[in-house]
Amino acid sequence: MRANVVLLRCTPEPERLVALAARLCYSPASIGELDEQISAKDIRTFVRRVLSMGHASVLEHVVLTFGVEGISRAASHQLVRHRIASYSQQSQRYVSADFGYVTPFSIADAEAEQPRRKKGLKPALIDAYREHMEKSAALYAQMVAEGIPPEDARFVLPNASETKIIVTMNARELHHFFALRLCRRAQWEIREAAMRMFELAVAQVPLLFENAGPGCVRGKCPEGEFTCGQGAEVRKAFKALNAMRGTKEGTI
Ligand SMILES: Cc1cc2nc3c(=O)[nH]c(=O)nc-3n(C[C@H](O)[C@H](O)[C@H](O)COP(=O)(O)OP(=O)(O)OC[C@H]3O[C@@H](n4cnc5c(N)ncnc54)[C@H](O)[C@@H]3O)c2cc1C
Repeated sequence: MRANVVLLRCTPEPERLVALAARLCYSPASIGELDEQISAKDIRTFVRRVLSMGHASVLEHVVLTFGVEGISRAASHQLVRHRIASYSQQSQRYVSADFGYVTPFSIADAEAEQPRRKKGLKPALIDAYREHMEKSAALYAQMVAEGIPPEDARFVLPNASETKIIVTMNARELHHFFALRLCRRAQWEIREAAMRMFELAVAQVPLLFENAGPGCVRGKCPEGEFTCGQGAEVRKAFKALNAMRGTKEGTI
């Protein structure tokens, strides 16, 4: 994992809030009464019941805010395609780039050495990649130094450029995001960031994310003919993750 992903904030008492919202829909009692009466056991029961019914809108009362640093612009572009979320991303107009860049495993990493050799890729490609990045950085710096505004100089920066972004998503959208981006067919960098967000979300609010994960965790692979064909393995891995975190019983 190259990106640094942290959970910055979460709605206070998130599971209690979702349970209260769920209970309210089906009870004649006042909100105050419900809030007073709700027990830890009720919370588990109500949350599980509404989620199993597909009444997922109650999850929208809970929002989680993540800080993500060190991902490429290629990955952040995929992230911001998720519209039911709020983003603040370091500007390339106002902040002159302190040029960092991401290098995919397939191009240069000790772990990728074997696969690259097998594919017959030449080590020279790693050097060419680095050289390309350094030349881009040098041209960018020269342009800024000679008075080109950063908003125009940035045109020479590659997709690999590192970026920082703060993301706020509600729990319902996070379920959707995890379903798409934890899929083995998702691109590796967004998948890694999604995995870290998933781990943080599950640790913070286990009950709300009990059944979260790629689409195949809950049934048939939604990818159809493009399936990775590893559904059984993926299901096993996510089941093991859930068991490790004790999420079956919740932690409230
Ligand atoms: C494996 C993979 C490959 C991809 N390849 C490409 C690609 O080649 N080209 C490309 O352009 N994109 C690609 N995408 C991005 C994809 O098309 C979506 O833009 C992205 O995944 C955001 O998801 P979303 O639109 O479902 O939901 P979000 O924006 O996260 O919204 C959540 C849900 O809200 C609802 N919603 C949101 N906005 C609207 C709206 N305006 N109208 C109606 N309902 C709405 C929908 O139900 C949606 O699923 C790819 C994504 C994945 C996971």
